[in-house]
Amino acid sequence: MRTLLLLVLSMVANVRDATAQDAQCVRERTAMVETIKDYARSRAGVLGQQGFSERVLEAMGQAKRHLFIPERSCSIAYADRPIPIGLGQTISQPFIVALMTELAGVAPDHVVLEIGTGSGYQAAILAHLARKVCTIEIIPQLAEAATKALKDLAYDNVSVRLGDGYAGWPECGPFDAVVVTAALGQVPPPLIEQLKVGGRLVMPVGADYGTQHLTVVEKTAPDKTTTRAVVPVRFVPFMRSPSR
Ligand code: SAH
Repeated sequence: MRTLLLLVLSMVANVRDATAQDAQCVRERTAMVETIKDYARSRAGVLGQQGFSERVLEAMGQAKRHLFIPERSCSIAYADRPIPIGLGQTISQPFIVALMTELAGVAPDHVVLEIGTGSGYQAAILAHLARKVCTIEIIPQLAEAATKALKDLAYDNVSVRLGDGYAGWPECGPFDAVVVTAALGQVPPPLIEQLKVGGRLVMPVGADYGTQHLTVVEKTAPDKTTTRAVVPVRFVPFMRSPSR
């Protein structure tokens, strides 16, 4: 009887702890959204006076970033900083995730391609905004962990594929938007081919560990694009599969 009572009491305490932790996470996530909103306002040159759209801020306020990182700590997850996710890779700081999402111009009926699934967090943000997200990751352990995180959180409009994203994913497209989260000296031509006319590709373009610019390529006609460099950034390198 006494053991049963202790067990019930410890269960109640655990639930209370979990609820308190959830509330703390919600507060930290709300604060993160305010931070990136203010940051966008203070750097009006990047997104203009209007800053982030409500849709993007809402997605950033909903996705549980702490469940995509190894530590699962809210104080780490919701600081506006990049976070190591193992195997030499990192999730970008929340401001950059939001900025890439905003620049991609994602609408509710869109099909979006992401190259570099990593933790799955950017894919989750895109999944809040688009109809379908197809994302490719080259490192098996990361692809596996991201697939699990996305499934556990019921993101059922995201498909994760293991492989080199250079060639895109034609069977999943054509795409209204493409987001690449690893840096390369030039935009892979297959990604432009798989982009619809009127669609946008957002990608860090530049040397490995050197100067890179977050770049927006807009496809204005079947064989025409316009390119704009938005801000200097620092991303992990885009890798190429040895079997190509
Ligand atoms: N979008 C991720 C950020 C990941 S960092 C997130 O939200 O967590 C960049 C990722 O790109 C890494 O996981 C890296 O393994 C992956 N990557 C690098 N080159 C790639 C390639 N050619 N194809 C697919 N993924 C690639």
